[in-house]
Amino acid sequence: MIPFVREMAFEYGRCDAVSPLIRRVVARNPGPFTYLGTGTYIVGHGEVAVIDPGPDLPEHLDALLAALGGERVTQILVTHDHADHSPLARALSEATGAPVAGLDRPSAPHIEGPTVEAGDDMAFRPDRRITGGEVFSGPGWSLETIATPGHTGNHLCFALAEENALFTGDHVMGWSTSVVVPPDGDMADYLASLRLVQAREFATLWPTHGPPVTDPAPFLAAYIEHRLAREAQVLRLLAEGHSRIPEMVTVAYRGVDKRLHPAAAQSMLAQLIKLVSEGRVATDGAPTLASDYRLP
Ligand SMILES: [Zn+2]
Repeated sequence: MIPFVREMAFEYGRCDAVSPLIRRVVARNPGPFTYLGTGTYIVGHGEVAVIDPGPDLPEHLDALLAALGGERVTQILVTHDHADHSPLARALSEATGAPVAGLDRPSAPHIEGPTVEAGDDMAFRPDRRITGGEVFSGPGWSLETIATPGHTGNHLCFALAEENALFTGDHVMGWSTSVVVPPDGDMADYLASLRLVQAREFATLWPTHGPPVTDPAPFLAAYIEHRLAREAQVLRLLAEGHSRIPEMVTVAYRGVDKRLHPAAAQSMLAQLIKLVSEGRVATDGAPTLASDYRLP
């Protein structure tokens, strides 16, 4: 079992100091994929960086500007271009003069079908494209960019050296597992990115949604184990003679709220794409939600 952490003291729009170098303002956009809402982080004092400005809500922009008072924003950083993370970056940049760094994907394939995420921000255009390794710093703080593809192809995390902490965006979420939706989401990349974070032995993980993970080692081990258990489950269902995603989801998620089945189907597709690419599962043509699968 993943030791989920869901308790968090906050109020929408209020700025809370959550560590010596980190403040957080939560936007009023709660939902099935955003939990309590988007947590925007302010790093440093006096000259600061802002991570994941959030959704395009005027009240959230006002709250951020009030929290920043007379401080200077030197950098706006974006973990990925989902609609609950990046849209406010442009307005915050215009209000503060700070440049936006992140990674866009102008030619992203658009996904048809049921929405299982907060949606893409196709208008996202950073002033500076970053791909991992870039370091941003200010008085008493430095943030290292770490590429963590998987949840999206362009997902980035930011490591705060002074607190051995990682801002994880949607790569690791304390309150739930992360959604990996093909074709942009990639399960093989996702697992590799989880192991990358695991290897760095951070003391604290700060997800964009929900409270921090303060004991990352057992949490990440369980998080990875959960994905491998899902993979084993798919292989077992195939061995039992099931061949299509809809029927496998019905069996595997018996008793689970049916509204979550579309997301479960996308996750299963992500698992199957990985297994097919590894030669452990066979199908005819490119793997889709409607394909027939079998063990080779
Ligand atoms: Zn996301």
